[in-house]
Parts: sequence; C-alpha cells; structure tokens
Amino acid sequence: MRIAFLGLGIMGHAMATNLVKAGHEVATWNRSPGKIVEGTRAAASPADAAQGAEVVWLCVADTAAVENVLFGPDGVEQSLTEGMIISDSSTISPTATRKFAERVAQKGVQYVDSPMTGSKAGAEAGTLLFIIGGDEQAIEKLMGKKIFRMGETGKGQSAKLVMNLQIALIYEGFAEALTLAAKLGLDAENLVQLINASMVKSGVIEYKAPFVLRRDFSPNFPLRLMRKDIRLALEAAKEARVKLPGLETVEEVYDVAVEEGHADLDYAATLQLLEKWAGVEVKGEAA
Ligand code: NAP
Repeated sequence: MRIAFLGLGIMGHAMATNLVKAGHEVATWNRSPGKIVEGTRAAASPADAAQGAEVVWLCVADTAAVENVLFGPDGVEQSLTEGMIISDSSTISPTATRKFAERVAQKGVQYVDSPMTGSKAGAEAGTLLFIIGGDEQAIEKLMGKKIFRMGETGKGQSAKLVMNLQIALIYEGFAEALTLAAKLGLDAENLVQLINASMVKSGVIEYKAPFVLRRDFSPNFPLRLMRKDIRLALEAAKEARVKLPGLETVEEVYDVAVEEGHADLDYAATLQLLEKWAGVEVKGEAA
C-alpha cells in the first residue's frame, strides 16, 4: 500500500519503520526537520507526503497539531482525492475528530480514528493495540491483529481517553503507595513483588515498576502528553456532565509537575513530586 506517515515522534517513528519492514511504500513528514525513517521518501510537507497516497496516517501530539497537519498551510487537505483514507493514531478530542471527519468526507475521504495503546515498547515491537472509531476495514490489515472497534468515528478517541484516565489513576495510586511505603521504611522492590503476587497487580504497574526501581524517568510516554489526555478526558466529562473528582486531583499533580520542569520526562516522574513533598526517595535494593 502507498502510505503517507505524518509525525515521527516516539511512536510515529517506530510505526513508520514497521510499515517499511512490512513492505509498504511509505512517504514520511515531520514538522521539525532531521527525523528520518530509512526506506521512506522524506516529503517536504504534509500535502507532498499525501500526494498519491492510499492511506494518510497521522501520529502527532494533540488536537491542534492534527488540525494543522490536515488543514494548515501545505496541509493534507490539498492532496485529498476520493477514496483515500485518513487514519489518526494521535490521541485527540473526540468532538474535533468528528468535525475533521465531516470536512474530509466532502472530498469523498474516509476518516478513521485509530488511537493506540502499548507505549514505546509496543510501537517498536509492532504489538500496539489499536482502538478504532469509524467504518473502514481496509486499513485494519495495516495494524496487525490487535484491534478493537468501538463504533462510529470519534468513538475510538472516546475509548482511548477512558483508557488513559485509568492509566493515570492507577499509576498515581502506585506512586502514592511507593511514597508512603518509603516513608514507612519498606523496600520498594520487595513491595513490587508483593503487588505482583496479589490482586493489586496491573499491566500499568508491571510496565512501569522496572523503570521506577532503576529511577529511569526518560520518556516512554511524556508527562506533557498524559496531562493533555487528562485534560481531554476532563473536557469530555464536562461536555457529558460527568464529575471526575479523582482525575481532577491528579490533574493538579501534573500541573505542578510541569511547573517543576518535568514536562518532557515520562509521566512516571510525577512520583518525584510526591517524593519531594514527603521528603523521601523511593529505593529498591538495586537502586
Ligand atoms: P512525541 O514523541 O512528542 O511526538 C509528537 C509528534 O507530533 C512529533 O512528530 C512532533 O513534531 C509532532 N507535532 C507536535 N506539534 C505539532 C504541530 N503543531 N504540527 C505538526 N506536528 C506537530 O509524542 P509521541 O509519544 O510519539 O505521541 C504521539 C501521539 O500518540 C500523541 O497524541 C500521544 O498522546 C499518543 N500516544 C503516545 C503513546 C506513548 O506511549 N508515547 C502511547 C499511545 C498514544 P516535532 O518533531 O516537530 O516536535
């Protein structure tokens, strides 16, 4: 398939690399120059990348970035032709997604929201789980077997937001537990073993604990992007007249973490704030 892949960040770079490995003809574009995926045509603009593509696949930071790539100067819109498919794997607003889909539908283009979960490791290994809103089945072949169809366009984003709501709360629970445990003189590694042997265990803790125990806060999923998703979930909740008191509190932790300069670290670095407030540092025997 001829694919235009737009956005070569932590996730996009690995995804585009895997598309090349799978034998597709890929054109790539990234806002800042210098990010290149071997085996692809490096395009000068989103419009250039999308020229002649069957599928235009986006993986950029947020709603404004998607709007810019699609409809900004030299945007994808200029190259849209009937029958093309746009697949957006960025995590953005469900409401904006529906508006974007309506706009491109006027050119006979199908829009599928395809946010994913699985983080950097999943992107590199090609084991991401895609959460699909929309009707197009042709592109699902590109995404491998792990696909959940959630309904019409926009529902993929809605589902992604409620997934990240849980990740943010589960991780915050883990970080608060580690902080209190440290203050109470417990060994973190020992505690993680207890967690993993009990009903408290979770995929989030399993993935994050090794990073935390070796105090590696380099970004798998940058804190600034998790804050964006928390805000998107709170925005969706407001639109739906739903109150989310736990998430509102966690948002405040993320706001302070950003003020403290942690925006580009992994969201696991919210732990550092709790440690600072408690005057303690989480340590395993190995740390
Ligand atoms: P990232 O490494 O920060 O990359 C963001 C990408 O968006 C970069 O290519 C960046 O270009 C581009 N971008 C930002 N603002 C832009 C704009 N205004 N116009 C055009 N391009 C713009 O982020 P990531 O981790 O790959 O995440 C990408 C998306 O996937 C986000 O929506 C995120 O929430 C979602 N996601 C991430 C993970 C994860 O674990 N990392 C997991 C699931 C979903 P520059 O290089 O020029 O900055």
